[in-house]
Amino acid sequence: MGEFELIRTVFAAAPCAQGGEGVALGIGDDCALLDVPFGEQLAISTDTLVAGVHFADPCDPFLLGQRSLAVAASDLAAMGATPLAFTLALTLPTVEADWLQAFARGLNHMAQRCNVRLIGGDTTRGPLCLTLTVFGRVPTGHALTRSGARPGDLLCVGGELGNAAGALPLVLGQRNAESFIAEPLLAHYWSPQPQLALGQALRGKATSALDISDGLLADCGHIAQASRVRLLIENERLPISVALQEFLGDAPAQLAALSGGDDYVLAFTLPPVELPTLLGDGWPIHVIGCVVEGQGVGVLDAQGQDITPATHGYQHF
Ligand code: ADP
Ligand code: MG
Repeated sequence: MGEFELIRTVFAAAPCAQGGEGVALGIGDDCALLDVPFGEQLAISTDTLVAGVHFADPCDPFLLGQRSLAVAASDLAAMGATPLAFTLALTLPTVEADWLQAFARGLNHMAQRCNVRLIGGDTTRGPLCLTLTVFGRVPTGHALTRSGARPGDLLCVGGELGNAAGALPLVLGQRNAESFIAEPLLAHYWSPQPQLALGQALRGKATSALDISDGLLADCGHIAQASRVRLLIENERLPISVALQEFLGDAPAQLAALSGGDDYVLAFTLPPVELPTLLGDGWPIHVIGCVVEGQGVGVLDAQGQDITPATHGYQHF
C-alpha cells in the first residue's frame, strides 16, 4: 500500500466518512454527490490553516484535527446553515501513521459534534497545510448575511470574547498559568464550539451575522461596511471570562475581547423586538451595543466617550 493510499484508508475508514443524510456518494470516486432538498440552498465555505501561521508547529494532531473542522464549520453557523459535509485537502511533509490516526480521531470527534460527514479530499506532499471546505444547507433566502443590519438594531454576541487570544501565550509556551485559568482558555483555543444551533435559531430574526475569527472590531467592521451602517460597542458590556480577567487583568482582557482573534463566537444584529423570545429560549446572547447611521465601528466607555483602539485585528497582508 502506497503512502497516499494509507492516508486515504485512514480517512475513508473514519466513522465520519461513512455517509449520512444528504450524502449520495462519499469518498472513493472522482466527485462526491450531495442531495440538497427542494427549497434549500447550498452554503459553501473554505478555510486554509498553515503550520506556523494558524497553529503552532509541532502541535498535538488530535487537537489540530478538532480545531481545523471547528473553524470551518463556524462559517456555516454564521450563515445559519445546517452542516451537511466537508472535504479535506491535506499537505504533509511526511506520512506518520500515528500522527495521521490521531489527527483523524480529532477530526472525527468534531465531525460528530457538528453532525457533518467527510466526503472527499486531496493529499499532497509539502509543508504542513490543511484546507477544509464545508457544505451546509439553508432554506432559500434565509441565510444570515453581513449586509442586512439596520439603524436601531442591537449588536449582540453569542458568548464570551477574548479567550482564544488569551490562550495564545500558553499555546506558544511563552507563559504558564494555574490550571483553573489555563484549562478553560486552552479549551476555547483548541476546541472552539461552532455555534451551529444558535445560527439556525437566528434565521429570520437576525438582520446580519458572522463568526468572529479576526477579532470583534475587525469583524464588526465587515458588517458595518456590507450593511452601510455604524456599529457602536459598549466596552463595559463585553462578556469576559473570569479566567481571562485573572490571567491578563482588566484592561488587557478588554483589549483581547475587542481585538483578539480565533473566538468563533457569533456576532449579529437583531431588531430589539426579537430579543426577549431568544433570551427566553435560553440562547447565550449578550447585547454589547447597537447599530446607528454612519460607517465603521466605534467603542464607547461607560460615560459614552469614544475609546476606539487603533489596531483592529489580525491581517495576513
Ligand atoms: P483524483 O486523482 O481523482 O483526484 P485522488 O486519488 O486524489 O482522486 O483521491 C481518491 C479519492 O480519495 C477521492 O474520492 C478523494 O476525494 C479521496 N481523498 C483523497 N485524499 C483525501 C483526504 N485527505 N481525505 C479524504 N478523502 C480523500
Ligand atoms: Mg485528487
